[in-house]
Amino acid sequence: MTETILVVEDELALRETIAYNLRQQGYEILVAADGETAITLAKQHQPDMMILDIMLPNVDGFEVCRILRKELNLPIIMLTARSGEIDRVLGLEMGADDYIVKPFSMRELLSRVKAHLRRMKMIQDDADQKGTNESVDAKQILQHGDLVIDNNRREVTRNSQILTMKPKEYDLLHYLASHRRTALSRDTILREVWGWEYTGGTRTVDVHIRWLREKIEPDPANPARIITIHGTGYRFEG
Ligand code: CA
Repeated sequence: MTETILVVEDELALRETIAYNLRQQGYEILVAADGETAITLAKQHQPDMMILDIMLPNVDGFEVCRILRKELNLPIIMLTARSGEIDRVLGLEMGADDYIVKPFSMRELLSRVKAHLRRMKMIQDDADQKGTNESVDAKQILQHGDLVIDNNRREVTRNSQILTMKPKEYDLLHYLASHRRTALSRDTILREVWGWEYTGGTRTVDVHIRWLREKIEPDPANPARIITIHGTGYRFEG
């Protein structure tokens, strides 16, 4: 099966270079030069992945990401020109999976693309397998006080209220809660939750922890559930 990648970049030369290199690898490529077209194409064709520039005419990359995230589950790699934007990309009100700072090499982009597609395929295979095996495992539900993590439904509730979580926030919380009272280094967390191929750096972990705390801690400024272990990483107390 050929995977389809949507390339969204307003700079013609860069858009064509990326499209050309990805086609060479055998991917099906769709291109858009602005945010509105990107949203339309993504909804119409449901690509397997998107490479999305931030600075775009009419609707910018952040907004494209935010809108599509509600409807589509696909890896999004954002292209950013300034390191100052990284926090916003990772902060992921938008829910991007990765980012690359311009200028970048095609080799780097290709390796990220392959890594994310491989990871996505693994998740899908896993889900397919679970789907054929109907039994509901009680261990799939973790409860810590008023916090309930239901891994069958990939749903988190606090005081019976459903918390809205981005996919990676959920994965991170589930991983931490499954290793209660265990010190976990940032590297371990990154490897287990984001996978070996992820090269975004451990700052990603810190940003996601910050977002999780805002959702699950009674007082996010004084965390009682996700404890920081200075110089190492984090520990879930529940
Ligand atoms: Ca641009």
